[in-house]
Amino acid sequence: MKLVLFDIDGTLLISNKSGTQAHIKTCQELFGKTITQFAQAGLTDQLVVKEIVQKNKLGAEVDGGFLARYFGLYTKYIKEVLAVSKPFLLPGVAKLLEELSKNPDVVLGLLTGNVKDVAKLKLDKLDMWNYFNVGAFGDDNPDRNKLGPIAMKRAEEYLKQRFTPEDVVILGDTNYDVDCARAIGAKMIGVTYAGFSHSLNEQNTNYLFKDFHDTKKVVEAILK
Ligand SMILES: [Mg+2]
Repeated sequence: MKLVLFDIDGTLLISNKSGTQAHIKTCQELFGKTITQFAQAGLTDQLVVKEIVQKNKLGAEVDGGFLARYFGLYTKYIKEVLAVSKPFLLPGVAKLLEELSKNPDVVLGLLTGNVKDVAKLKLDKLDMWNYFNVGAFGDDNPDRNKLGPIAMKRAEEYLKQRFTPEDVVILGDTNYDVDCARAIGAKMIGVTYAGFSHSLNEQNTNYLFKDFHDTKKVVEAILK
């Protein structure tokens, strides 16, 4: 049985800077300021907020209460932004998920820095949320490398069976996904479509694709 864990942004879909727009609106409401500095792709949303607050010198203490308030607004705004920003799936994603979901030896999951509500909004927008049975999200832990074991544990509870690192495959578009795969000893499949190819190479990935248009090849790489 393979546990196949997908990153969201840059891997399944391109959200056309929906997150950036939603952060701008959230900070506008919370601080009355238009932020200009943003965080690096691949971080968990909790760390993204921390970086935004620091880099823009917003002066807030990023504690649990602040994060809850921030993500409440952020979720509201990203819903608005997604309605107009025209997010789209990477080539081949719909067919790949359809194919994998029919395979009885595969369980599909998410491993993303997005908080769960936002992950759901993005994937629902493109009718992809229901493909995923398990997941670990940005609200589970600020450290992305801790999310792999959480996803594995949830898959074990869901299927009532054990997973070893060899059973786990991570698909992602940045070096943060690579670190995540290394942290649990999983197979890493990189996708360079979104343009973070500088952080992915033949050495730090087991397989590297431009996108997922060649379903057969990608499925082979996942199952091998
Ligand atoms: Mg990504």
